[in-house]
Amino acid sequence: MQTFTPGQDGYREEIAGFQTGIESTPKLVVAATSADDVAEAVRHAAAHDLPVAVQATGHGLRAPAEGVLISTKRLTGVEIDPAVGVARVEAGATWGAVIAAAAEHGLAPLSGSAPGVGVVGYTLGGGFSLLGRRYGLAADHVVSADAVTTDGTLERTTDLDAGVITALEFGLVPVTGLYGGGLYFDTPKLTEVLHAWRDWTADAPDTLTTSLALIPYPDLPMVPEPLRGKHIAHVRVAYLGADGPDLVAPLRALGPLVDTLDRLPFTESGSIAAEPPHPHAYLGDNRVVAQLPDATLDAIVEHVGPGASVPTVLIVDLLGGAYARATAPDFTPDSLYTIRALSVVDEAGPDAVRAAHDKLFVPLTATGRLRSFVYGQPVT
Ligand SMILES: Cc1cc2nc3c(=O)[nH]c(=O)nc-3n(C[C@H](O)[C@H](O)[C@H](O)COP(=O)(O)OP(=O)(O)OC[C@H]3O[C@@H](n4cnc5c(N)ncnc54)[C@H](O)[C@@H]3O)c2cc1C
Repeated sequence: MQTFTPGQDGYREEIAGFQTGIESTPKLVVAATSADDVAEAVRHAAAHDLPVAVQATGHGLRAPAEGVLISTKRLTGVEIDPAVGVARVEAGATWGAVIAAAAEHGLAPLSGSAPGVGVVGYTLGGGFSLLGRRYGLAADHVVSADAVTTDGTLERTTDLDAGVITALEFGLVPVTGLYGGGLYFDTPKLTEVLHAWRDWTADAPDTLTTSLALIPYPDLPMVPEPLRGKHIAHVRVAYLGADGPDLVAPLRALGPLVDTLDRLPFTESGSIAAEPPHPHAYLGDNRVVAQLPDATLDAIVEHVGPGASVPTVLIVDLLGGAYARATAPDFTPDSLYTIRALSVVDEAGPDAVRAAHDKLFVPLTATGRLRSFVYGQPVT
């Protein structure tokens, strides 16, 4: 086991994660390479009356770590038992590794939009996957967790809040490919697409998981030319049925600027949302709602559309389907859509970002708020 203290070579590098907007200053960083290391770190923290924080990829950081930070990024083991369709992963595994290992056996995990996200942190928040309307929350597929409790004991449990998780076992699903990708629409079509997507989702089959993102693409060379500098409506599709082209025909008819929809192996599922993999500073919040009346769509365009005071990526996900039957502390069964806002924190500063998001969220009649999609700030 390696440890780092403030000022020591490697301390900052060990703490660096995907979210760069939170500056942790732990007294001790434990770079764990085994469950025993995790247990020792927890016992050390207890003996010195220090709080324990855990970090895998740093996608979900909400507060600075101050006491003992257990870094799990070296715990990357992934094993698949194809006979029972179960994956066993260590605490630092990311979805990309599980997707690749499961695919060798014709199986897939309930992974989300970005393959770089950590399995354990994701599952602790419920886990909203690309197959979620068909198979429900990732957390509902957990078989067992190995966890170090506050007294430093390692135990096998089904309670995901039992302590620091060192390994997770969960069920996989028999999926090898899907019909998926995105339709990207130019700025003048944004309002029309928002309404059309909402109407299209009204009778969607459970085999379809979809979201709509409004994205203010920066005018930078790393953004592909047709999208660069434009406020784009991006329809994301992950469909398990055979009639994909028929299903999406009403949206295609609206004339996308870019169309990436096709059959694809599940190993390429990260291309559906095509989220940027580069670390940055961001703040995000969300609400869950039972319906999307025109007034809500108008408010979305007004507060986070083109011309908004703070550039914001707005994502609306369709819930329902298997989510309506999920064990969900964060939303009621009648919840049908999430509304998520995410902004890069730059010159505008965090207060301006929060104020801009609140203009959209405060007037909404919400049926939930998903802790998974609260970024860079505490869930209050
Ligand atoms: C680009 C992006 C895409 C995303 N896409 C999705 C998506 O499609 N679906 C979805 O549901 N969520 C999604 N999320 C949210 C994501 O699931 C959460 O941010 C999650 O907390 C990230 O976990 P992590 O391990 O990668 O991050 P980390 O920041 O390393 O961990 C987040 C938190 O999880 C806890 N934690 C991590 N490991 C352990 C452990 N071993 N034991 C105990 N606690 C632990 C800690 O409290 C830690 O602060 C996305 C986030 C981003 C930034």
